[in-house]
Amino acid sequence: MDDVDVLTIGAGGGGYPAAFRLAAAGRRVVMVDPKGLMSGNCLAEGCVPSKAVREIAHHLLRHRRFHKSGLHGEVSVDYSEVVAHKDQVQTRRYEQHDAELRAAPNVALLTGTARIDDPHTVAVDTPEGLRRFNARNIIIASGSDISVPPIPGLEHCLSSRDLYALRPSVSTLPASMLVIGGGYVGLETASFFSAFGTRVTVVEREAQLLPGMDPDMVALLAPLLDPNIEIILRAEVRRVEPTSQGVRVVFFDGTAEQHRSAAQAFQALGRHPVIPAGLREIGVTVGAHGVQADPTLQTNLRHIYACGDVNGRTPLFHAAVRQSVAAAANIMAGDRHADAVDFLSTPTTVFTLPAAAYVGLTRASAAAAGVSIEEGAYSFAEDSRAQIFGETQGEIRLFFQTGSLRLVGGWVVGIDAGNLIGQIGLAVSRGLDARDLAAFADQHPMSAEGISRSARSLF
Ligand SMILES: Cc1cc2nc3c(=O)[nH]c(=O)nc-3n(C[C@H](O)[C@H](O)[C@H](O)COP(=O)(O)OP(=O)(O)OC[C@H]3O[C@@H](n4cnc5c(N)ncnc54)[C@H](O)[C@@H]3O)c2cc1C
Repeated sequence: MDDVDVLTIGAGGGGYPAAFRLAAAGRRVVMVDPKGLMSGNCLAEGCVPSKAVREIAHHLLRHRRFHKSGLHGEVSVDYSEVVAHKDQVQTRRYEQHDAELRAAPNVALLTGTARIDDPHTVAVDTPEGLRRFNARNIIIASGSDISVPPIPGLEHCLSSRDLYALRPSVSTLPASMLVIGGGYVGLETASFFSAFGTRVTVVEREAQLLPGMDPDMVALLAPLLDPNIEIILRAEVRRVEPTSQGVRVVFFDGTAEQHRSAAQAFQALGRHPVIPAGLREIGVTVGAHGVQADPTLQTNLRHIYACGDVNGRTPLFHAAVRQSVAAAANIMAGDRHADAVDFLSTPTTVFTLPAAAYVGLTRASAAAAGVSIEEGAYSFAEDSRAQIFGETQGEIRLFFQTGSLRLVGGWVVGIDAGNLIGQIGLAVSRGLDARDLAAFADQHPMSAEGISRSARSLF
């Protein structure tokens, strides 16, 4: 049995930031992950590789605008080169993480799968055999995995792993693709492949794309997506059947069964938390969305923390990192409340083309929470940067509490949405008001000018 101060189960965004901070403070830390690599699913098959593909699709769209009937004809991509670029980015980042790990004192990464034997004992199944650790604190950061609901034939579909893993199984562009699920992973993937020239159909069960996201934001985004993408809402997929040409997806439209066929189907039906073996047995509460953790990231056993996708609060990489850092602060404080996460001020971006992003309260969620708001808006039609790129559709919408004019949330659809929401999120989390935003000299000619402009529209 080895004694450690802290053991993290998982070395992704929920695990390694805490591990590094605690190790820098002199704690002996072991991270356990079967991948034997840091950065979890974000780098393995999520954020980074999908955005490496996205940015090429975005460049392609910008480029095409100026080459429509030019000398060079239609601009297209060699998809195998897109995959090679994505692989290169992943490899480079893995090398960077290796170097960080080698340079850090007091922290080790152990390849293996952890199981919890008692509130302080973790057994790790490694390629060299079983190892046992006695840990003062445990951070559960085991993340999430692809959900595979019991739909017959779903095994004939691709998943994010087939497209975005290192050296993925798909390295040639499919002529057509059926995307099952209109959440952010499905819709982003639909946008990228449609930009590359794949004929894409999205089938979504709910009445709205991006179910659960702000309806005003989605209503503005949906018509701005590539019109070549066929979107079928209120369609419940019943089965997936292989055909000689690829696959057929059969869905129920509320009245009758319908179907669409394509070369490939991509399933994006969500992710579920990965609960390490033994966790429930030692009495840690696990709810419908994952391990229950409060804003300090503590579970009901106060020396055990749950960070990242495994707690189901805000399943995004930067959210996992923020939570991990907060958990580290609380561990360093002897499991006292030194830091707490405001889950509401964590921004979310849907990296479609164009993108949409939101943070905090919006019109619908403010009404549901009984918060009275005033709105400030800025259309990208007026924005110099948007005009420079010819991407003038979309807007910034900010929500201020009536009276105090404190910023409580906002969304952005269109140019630079993923960047702008960072500045808006910071203002929400720091409690800034319309006067603070209006008094800042947002750079010209950058789209952030719209933030101070919408704040100024209030007074
Ligand atoms: C296609 C796609 C695109 C995405 N794009 C974005 C994006 O643009 N921006 C964004 O913020 N988020 C994005 N995400 C979400 C993001 O990947 C996750 O929110 C993030 O990876 C969560 O980090 P985590 O550390 O909680 O979990 P994970 O990254 O899932 O890491 C958990 C780790 O724990 C390990 N583990 C599991 N069980 C055990 C065990 N018993 N013992 C030891 N180790 C174990 C796993 O192997 C894994 O490496 C995307 C996800 C997908 C699928």
